[in-house]
Amino acid sequence: MNLDAIIVGAGHNGLVTACYLAKAGFKVLVIERRESIGGGAITEEFHPGFSSSTLDHTAGPFSSQVVSDLTLTQHGLEFISPEVRVLSFSTDHRPLCVYNESSRTVNEIEKFSSKDAGRYPEFLNSFSRIGSVLAPLLSMTPPSINHPTANDAWQFGKVGLAFRGLGKKDEYRLLRWGPMAVADLAAEWFDTEVIRAIVAARGISGAFAGPWSAGTSLGLLFQAALDSNPIAPAVFSRGGMGAITKSIGAAASALGVEIRTNAEVVRIETLNGSGSKVYLRNGEELNARAIVSSADPKTTFLKLVDPVDLDPGFLLKMRNYRAQGTVAKMNLALDGLPSFSGIEGSEARTKLAGRIQIGPEIDYLERAFDASKYGEFSREPFLDITVPTLTDPTLAPDGKHVMSIQIQFAPYKLRQGDWKSRAQEFADTVIAQISKFAPGIKDLIISGQVITPLDLEEVYGLTGGHIHHGEQSLDQFFTFRPLIGFAQYRSPLKGLYLCGAGTHPGGGITGLPGANAGREIVKDLKTIRR
Ligand SMILES: Cc1cc2nc3c(=O)[nH]c(=O)nc-3n(C[C@H](O)[C@H](O)[C@H](O)COP(=O)(O)OP(=O)(O)OC[C@H]3O[C@@H](n4cnc5c(N)ncnc54)[C@H](O)[C@@H]3O)c2cc1C
Repeated sequence: MNLDAIIVGAGHNGLVTACYLAKAGFKVLVIERRESIGGGAITEEFHPGFSSSTLDHTAGPFSSQVVSDLTLTQHGLEFISPEVRVLSFSTDHRPLCVYNESSRTVNEIEKFSSKDAGRYPEFLNSFSRIGSVLAPLLSMTPPSINHPTANDAWQFGKVGLAFRGLGKKDEYRLLRWGPMAVADLAAEWFDTEVIRAIVAARGISGAFAGPWSAGTSLGLLFQAALDSNPIAPAVFSRGGMGAITKSIGAAASALGVEIRTNAEVVRIETLNGSGSKVYLRNGEELNARAIVSSADPKTTFLKLVDPVDLDPGFLLKMRNYRAQGTVAKMNLALDGLPSFSGIEGSEARTKLAGRIQIGPEIDYLERAFDASKYGEFSREPFLDITVPTLTDPTLAPDGKHVMSIQIQFAPYKLRQGDWKSRAQEFADTVIAQISKFAPGIKDLIISGQVITPLDLEEVYGLTGGHIHHGEQSLDQFFTFRPLIGFAQYRSPLKGLYLCGAGTHPGGGITGLPGANAGREIVKDLKTIRR
């Protein structure tokens, strides 16, 4: 087989890159170590009749450009966006809903504070204006620091012009906000703790950081660039998150891409610009003009490439790339819909249909993070919960429900004991915490699945159990992702590329790293002789 590119890993980004290369006329093979495609975006039956998005449970949102370029709707993709973004509870368990529609949210906030209700529209508008300036950065290749090209200057010039168009007030906000602690930013806008905590949640999602950590406002700017709103939405796909990768897999197959599962790459070798090679666990060797890894950067460079092939300085920087996970996941099969405090039966199906956040105040979120700093999981964790069966009943038998729970903070390294011996204690802690806000939930649990950060590494191949292939902080962002000098999807080895969440613009089910990488690799493949 005369291959142009081998993609390591069939997560959504690897598949997106495969599609763009195939669309450009190249012959592509995707190799996935697990039995099925999807990476973080998978739907699996975890109890007879009950399926859940095993890992991530809402999409980034996904790039509409990629959906249209790859005709994913024709390949079965259907997004579901409930009207509620997030439901949270105050310390005295009063519910507050953030809707997609601003005026409905204002009415909700009014129940807590008229002043905060009055500020909410300008909060949204300001982020929306700033987000529209930042949005083009997400789908551009970060400029080269050492060798900026004319195109880099042109792209940046366009962003600069848009920045000047913001006006003094928003320009100043944009420059100030990025490095700020999200707790400070939230406090500048709102007095009510539960609203501050809803805002702050996006800044710490998936991070080894609490709301008082510097730079956590970056997550809000990123979200505003993706979605024009700094509060993360609930975006599901019919059939769970696995349906997203299934549709990309179908698009790839239609474009002639071959996908092999149950095949693990154990070594990548580049041959000095004259081709590249992967070695599989079963002893097979496969050649291609380019190898594109969607595995995380640490896996790629510290496990799959022979260290003698890399410069010691690069290796040192890669070892220092931060990827200490803090997220665990649970999926519950429920006998019915749980009741949450303050939510009337008749409104439950609407109000519980988005994301449900347990994290009533900034101090709660910070304390939840504190535990992980000292190698312990939080006794009162920050929880991001969804009940996908409310919008997609196909995931469970009639009248039954699935609850998907993302738990922070659960550090990859425990100081006492280990994850294998403490998984049950951890699960009990999480259920006890949900029970405070949904008192009858314990009696509804039919079965549960617990996925610890160690499982994320061992089963799903995420180094350090980091859900985003590495911390998304100011020092590992944009031209610094994964490392300064290597943010253009190319690596120090000619013929080896990256296309996963460890590249710009980072984690989340967006398809953007895969699309950006595809564009760069197409350019190179067109210039390299066959
Ligand atoms: C628990 C959890 C919750 C999350 N929640 C959300 C959420 O709610 N919303 C959101 O937008 N994002 C969420 N994320 C993040 C999101 O899942 C990731 O950012 C996304 O999956 C990254 O996609 P990717 O294609 O870059 O990498 P991955 O999805 O990690 O795919 C990489 C693929 O490479 C394969 N692979 C690795 N090594 C090899 C090898 N040697 N040989 C062959 N194959 C290999 C892996 O098996 C995997 O299939 C969550 C992630 C986790 C783990």
